[in-house]
Amino acid sequence: MAEPPANPESVDTIAAISTPPGRGGIGIVRLSGPQAASIAAQLVRLRQPLEHTRARLADVLDDSEWFDASNRIDEALVTSFAAPNSYTAEDLVEIAAHGSPVVLELLLRRALALGARLAEPGEFTQRAFLSGRLDLTQAEAVRDLIDAQTLTQARQAASQMGGALSHRVAPIKQSLVELIALLEAGIDFAEDDVDVTPPAEIARRIDELVGPLDALEASFARGRIVHDGLTLAIVGRPNAGKSSLFNRLVERDRAIVTAMPGTTRDLVTERISLAGIPLELVDTAGLREAPRGYLEEAEQIGITRSREAFADAALVLIVLDATQPLNDEERALLAAVEGRPALVAINKSDLAAAEDHTSAWPHIAAHPTSALTGEGIPALRDRILALATGGAALEPGLLTNLRQHKAVTTTLAALTDAANANATSIPHEMILLDLYRALWALDSLTGQTTSDDILNLIFSTFCIGK
Ligand code: GDP
Repeated sequence: MAEPPANPESVDTIAAISTPPGRGGIGIVRLSGPQAASIAAQLVRLRQPLEHTRARLADVLDDSEWFDASNRIDEALVTSFAAPNSYTAEDLVEIAAHGSPVVLELLLRRALALGARLAEPGEFTQRAFLSGRLDLTQAEAVRDLIDAQTLTQARQAASQMGGALSHRVAPIKQSLVELIALLEAGIDFAEDDVDVTPPAEIARRIDELVGPLDALEASFARGRIVHDGLTLAIVGRPNAGKSSLFNRLVERDRAIVTAMPGTTRDLVTERISLAGIPLELVDTAGLREAPRGYLEEAEQIGITRSREAFADAALVLIVLDATQPLNDEERALLAAVEGRPALVAINKSDLAAAEDHTSAWPHIAAHPTSALTGEGIPALRDRILALATGGAALEPGLLTNLRQHKAVTTTLAALTDAANANATSIPHEMILLDLYRALWALDSLTGQTTSDDILNLIFSTFCIGK
């Protein structure tokens, strides 16, 4: 990974194929750095000189001499952006050719021969960050946008790329800096009769910081779900209709459905998008109790895996059979999910009334469903979604990854230390140490004071050409 440049003169020009590997309608080679324009001009035969933000037609020429009629192998569109008005804030050139890997590799090879260096993964975005064009939460959002698999994820990433999280943090930081300045002034000008800030005032100001930081910390629960999705384990006795319901939710014949009990021996999983929230459905083999040796080995393994999936899942869907009275295992299951996000489907509602059961588990929402007719499935989906998101609408500026969450919890911990120190009349110099720790942690969220090691870690998870 490249070190931040010591001085602008020493910046090298980087090049990469920015479109995905393989054939495509078009493919783009990107250059960034002081030599970007001059290298581009030698790479292709431009029909007009490059001009900021203008697209120019150019010919890609074959470098072998044997074909003398015409050595043009492709036509390209070259767009240049002059520093500092580009993605990287450096001179940047994009050459869009037809997306043939051989043409793109030829262009890249030539660019390297002309003095460019192959870009590291994420290096274009890293340069945008180092030049101050993007802060760290915005740079992470670029990666999230590229990785987005649902529109909701893309929207969330785009809002963060626009600075939603940074904007949410900015006023908190401002107040923290003001508090630090207040205490610093009290120390520096103690002899000049500057009033020492009373502890009650310090406590009030710290409190004012903690409120919005707590809200930000809590947003991680939702942000993480948008970002990573969550797992829903479908459990219940054999034959209750777990696989059929799973298929209804997936709307594809993925799990094998038969009328024989205990046939879903292994875990069947499928990733679906529920209103843009990625949801991993796990169809379990059932949690049937039986003496060892009584069940086939494969079925035993399936049951062990089911128990693990049940324990690990963020959400649990218990499937009951409306035609059967509750058995002990189901009672145990209902008791086991108390306090966890769970819901009950009383399946086969086309065959029997569901009401018969409901008094047994007042703590969990129950839905009559029929995997056969589809009745009750939309309501079940809505309920799953409400459980997944905690029922709250997604606000802008969510914390979406562990690094961001850690920054906020570290800030909060340092503020708690500062509040405790203040409460025990510890000298302001010591309170300031805690406040500076809080500031450092908050700054690391947007990357203002983040060490190179952490930066490199973040940018290395990008793909090449971004
Ligand atoms: P699992 O063992 O819990 O996964 O149950 P399956 O999904 O394999 O279903 C067991 C049997 O019940 C199959 O014959 C299904 O067709 C049937 N079944 C599942 N759901 C319903 C339903 O809502 N209504 C009716 N009438 N039959 C169902």
